[in-house]
Amino acid sequence: MSLDGAYEDDNIFAKILRGEIPCHRIMEDDAVLAFMDAFPQSPGHCLVVPKSPARNLFDIAPDALSALITRVQTVGAAVRSALDPDGVVIMQFNGAPAGQTVFHLHFHIIPRYDGRNFAGHGQSSRGDDAELAEQARKIAAALRG
Ligand code: 5GP
Repeated sequence: MSLDGAYEDDNIFAKILRGEIPCHRIMEDDAVLAFMDAFPQSPGHCLVVPKSPARNLFDIAPDALSALITRVQTVGAAVRSALDPDGVVIMQFNGAPAGQTVFHLHFHIIPRYDGRNFAGHGQSSRGDDAELAEQARKIAAALRG
């Protein structure tokens, strides 16, 4: 998948945004949806996606990107409050050669814990739904303060 070209609205995140497939939702507002990654690289791995139909970082208007990155900071802070990680990885891939697998722009928020393994990108297993639901609930509660 090249960096340029048309946005394709049959990608998984477009379907999640339209409510066609389920997710463990953390928050939603006019600009973004945040939800748990179904294949967490570390416990608490979540995603923030813009509502704008953007394939990657180079395909979004600056004001929508500003709104997105401020939500990444806010959700990341809630992840810190809720899960008390020792570190937080924020990552984002552009194009298949860079590791992108879902072609709707998204930021990963991945808590890291001292002494605990971190699965490589694309090498994780499907998460337990009850655990994902509980993590989403805790992060959402931290967002509400
Ligand atoms: P990318 O590889 O494009 O940076 O990240 C795509 C992410 O989407 C991966 O971390 C992958 O685990 C996650 N993912 C793939 N399919 C689903 C799904 O159906 N639901 C959710 N919540 N996450 C998914």
